[in-house]
Amino acid sequence: MKIKLPLFEDEKAWCRLPVIAGPCSAESREQVVQTAVDLSQKGVGFYRAGLWKPRTHPGNFEGVGDRGLDWLLEVKEKTGMKVGTEVATPSHVKSALSAGIDFIWIGARTSVNPFAVTEIADAVARIYPDITVLIKNPVNPDIELWIGALQRFEKAGVRRIGAVHRGFSGYGTTDYRNNPLWTIPIELRRRYPDLPILCDPSHIGGKRELIDSLSQRALSIGFDGLIIESHCNPDEALSDSAQQITPDVLGDLMNNWSFRQLEGNHETGLEEFRREIDEIDNELIQLLARRMAVSRQIGDYKQKNGLSVVQIGRHDQVVRTRTNLGMAKGMSGEFMEKLFRLIHEESVDQQIKPPLPDNC
Ligand code: PEP
Ligand code: MN
Repeated sequence: MKIKLPLFEDEKAWCRLPVIAGPCSAESREQVVQTAVDLSQKGVGFYRAGLWKPRTHPGNFEGVGDRGLDWLLEVKEKTGMKVGTEVATPSHVKSALSAGIDFIWIGARTSVNPFAVTEIADAVARIYPDITVLIKNPVNPDIELWIGALQRFEKAGVRRIGAVHRGFSGYGTTDYRNNPLWTIPIELRRRYPDLPILCDPSHIGGKRELIDSLSQRALSIGFDGLIIESHCNPDEALSDSAQQITPDVLGDLMNNWSFRQLEGNHETGLEEFRREIDEIDNELIQLLARRMAVSRQIGDYKQKNGLSVVQIGRHDQVVRTRTNLGMAKGMSGEFMEKLFRLIHEESVDQQIKPPLPDNC
């Protein structure tokens, strides 16, 4: 994928404060304009509001539709903000683009569907291929499907493309509304280093208390910006009430976040740390190899003495004691447990394998 244009035509405004904010849904003219004026006073230059809302259950508030376009135009006129909304069909694209909306996004329930994505991409390319299009990850954790959606826009001839990480659906209750699975957007960055990737902490967290830490984490990882739900009266919001924050709260949070990517090139300072990490990794690999060599000796011993390779009691004890030791050193229990289960699996494989040739 070749990124041909900066994400927003007004690149300077975006770099000054790479945050898109606004309500989940446009509900009334007053709510749309009031929220926008308040956000604009906090320095936000990019405004979001959903007009057509894909809802899980029928009968929930499904958006005000075309009626809200005039409200967004009024925001543009009054505040100078760039305004954007979600599109899910070619007819939404036609309405939004012909009204003069500045950017659009494809929701997670649409980016799962290649036919829908192609139809939307073709409609955008036909009407205005230079508009900014943000493509949210599909609801399921499938990086190929996400990349496929991005590629469909590129193939149609759309030139300003960005990805939005909004987390992935799961079953059962977790701390998050949508599991962040950070390795997926990081892998996307690895494969397409020039693709702008934004984070949507509102839909990941599902509750306003999580916006701060998720946003800071995304910025530290190196995301290029944030899209955050903000409402002038969150408790009364007609959709996603629990995850919306007031413009005032957002203003306070933004003052504390470090938008690192704007602070110049610190690569040289990093080199020293990276050298240290390289050395530590090397030592880790040597240690693991030593551990596996002992495992092979144990394998030989067990074979000679007719003992089975896996001894559950010992396995549980190894995982438990190492997890406790690691936790005492500040690592998460989940990480330590995964790590030692993996090490144990490899150990078992090594015990079953034929011995290595002498020169190893
Ligand atoms: C939204 O941005 O309001 C929205 C519906 O998001 P998602 O597609 O990520 O659920
Ligand atoms: Mn929402």
